[in-house]
Amino acid sequence: MILKKLVVGPFASNCYIVGSEATKEGMIIDPGAEAEEILKNVNALGLSIKFIVLTHGHIDHIGAVKEVKEATGAEVAIHTDEAKSLHGRSLSNLFGLSFSPPPPPDRWLKGGDSIDIGDLHFLVLHTPGHSPGGICLLGQGVVFCGDTLFNYGIGRTDFPGSSYSQLMNSIYTKLMILPDNTVVCPGHGPDTTIGTERRMNPFLRG
Ligand SMILES: [Zn+2]
Ligand SMILES: [Zn+2]
Repeated sequence: MILKKLVVGPFASNCYIVGSEATKEGMIIDPGAEAEEILKNVNALGLSIKFIVLTHGHIDHIGAVKEVKEATGAEVAIHTDEAKSLHGRSLSNLFGLSFSPPPPPDRWLKGGDSIDIGDLHFLVLHTPGHSPGGICLLGQGVVFCGDTLFNYGIGRTDFPGSSYSQLMNSIYTKLMILPDNTVVCPGHGPDTTIGTERRMNPFLRG
């Protein structure tokens, strides 16, 4: 699997470019900002992007969707329960930012769906809590988890539509059941593993 992480925008959001070595097809997870930099990397990797997958609709994860979609022709995919967050108006006001709103999604996701990139297969896990339609993408021993779980942290639950109890339920029932060696690629900050977070994450103890 080709995997390239870019840290983009004022919120240091992680954008992941994922591709198949065999077919050179790829997807972009959370193009939050810096479309030009993302597209430069896509070209350098020689990938043809099939999907832009959004872990959730917060502005720091979707700011470059419009430009990246226009340049790649990829389908934009997001969970059905995330329709409200997508417009980002409340959050962009909150953060005092202006941004180009993303085009309407081409594909609405739900838990249990699969996203296929050449010979790579990813399972959609619905993990509400940080936002109603938050998802994680699991495949190839890696889980891309947006703002649900971080290295030594968990997602914020003080946004409109957030729920602390839902977030904890999502983490325990969807993520902590995964093998220890599953690599966690979060929406911000460094990579970690399920095992490390199970043992060391201070928000998951007790
Ligand atoms: Zn978020
Ligand atoms: Zn975020």
